[in-house]
Amino acid sequence: MTLRFGIIGYGGMGGWHKRHIEALEGMEVVAIHDIDPARVEAGKAEGLKSYLHLQDFLSDPDVQVVIIATPNDVHMELAIASAASGKHVVCEKPVALSSAQLDEMIATAQRHNVVFTVHQNRRWDKDFRRVMNALRARLIGEPYIIESRVHGPNGAIHGWRGKKIHGGGMLLDWGVHLIDQILWMIKTPLKSVFCRMRSVVNQEVDDYFRLEMEFVDGLIAHVEVGTMCLEPLPRWHVGGTLGTIRIETFTDEGCLTVLRRAAQYNSGPLVDTGAGPTRTFGKVNGVEVCRSPLEDPKTDSNDFYRNVKAAIEDGAELIVKPEEVRKVMKVMEAGFESNRTGMPVLFSERNLN
Ligand code: NAD
Repeated sequence: MTLRFGIIGYGGMGGWHKRHIEALEGMEVVAIHDIDPARVEAGKAEGLKSYLHLQDFLSDPDVQVVIIATPNDVHMELAIASAASGKHVVCEKPVALSSAQLDEMIATAQRHNVVFTVHQNRRWDKDFRRVMNALRARLIGEPYIIESRVHGPNGAIHGWRGKKIHGGGMLLDWGVHLIDQILWMIKTPLKSVFCRMRSVVNQEVDDYFRLEMEFVDGLIAHVEVGTMCLEPLPRWHVGGTLGTIRIETFTDEGCLTVLRRAAQYNSGPLVDTGAGPTRTFGKVNGVEVCRSPLEDPKTDSNDFYRNVKAAIEDGAELIVKPEEVRKVMKVMEAGFESNRTGMPVLFSERNLN
């Protein structure tokens, strides 16, 4: 059976969804809705039923699943209207501007018995899967620090992403992906969130943030995004009791460095090294290290759509569950609060897990 999608917001990401879905078996995009007449014309030129008015689009019985790919501030109203019209809903990230908005979206989807999920597509990124697979296989022992960064040189944030009113800024735009990856990989309850945000070259919204999550077992996860960085730090740097993972970019195979046998921690005399006089950071004594690339995780981000189809047609479990998205939203809210107060937000105390 062919599952028929309609897209609300036929801009950059709306077109991306169309291109991906039309390459998949058993799925097709039949309609779009956009408030910009030029985008409606673009849809028509591609042979899609193209609507300028939301109600006309939602009244089209051909559309079974609505993908919402508009600026962030209108996700909630569009998701609620779509679910209330009996359509299944796939919403772009960040799902909403607050967990209260998300709760309304979830409640409406439940009331109308439709599937509701969020396009957290970076769960399928190769760099992330390399780290997740290595941690699951315990290749570096017990992790104590995970650093996940995206640094770029482009400075100013363009378009609606640079406006607060539209839900712009890097914590909402990219933080949502990086936090989602960490929480999907690490199932330990969170202890606290601490965050600092800056507007380096933008007037209105954050173009730099660093957010730290501490888990109850002591693991620290640090996520950081900066748009004004000409010398990027590695995409991932992960430290464990038996080794270290370093991945430079979204596409390289990374480097796994592990101890071949237990370290004999240097207890010899102080030595003069390239690092000056130090025992701690001098040459490692009697320890062999082994460096290797991380295995190709062979991911396919189209599994997101296949899962949506399976959830609608066969009741399969969603890969991106609304309750997981809600926890990410709670972490971002804690990030904004921490930035405002200068204090960490204690997750365990407020029972936010
Ligand atoms: P965009 O500006 O390129 O496109 C947005 C489109 O929505 C425009 O055509 C605009 O006219 C239309 N629009 C605005 N308000 C509308 C409304 N009320 N009703 C109907 N249409 C409306 O933006 P984009 O880059 O495509 O981003 C859209 C969404 O996709 C955002 O939520 C963004 O965070 C998300 N996104 C996700 C990823 C990802 O990897 N998952 C990547 C990029 C963008």
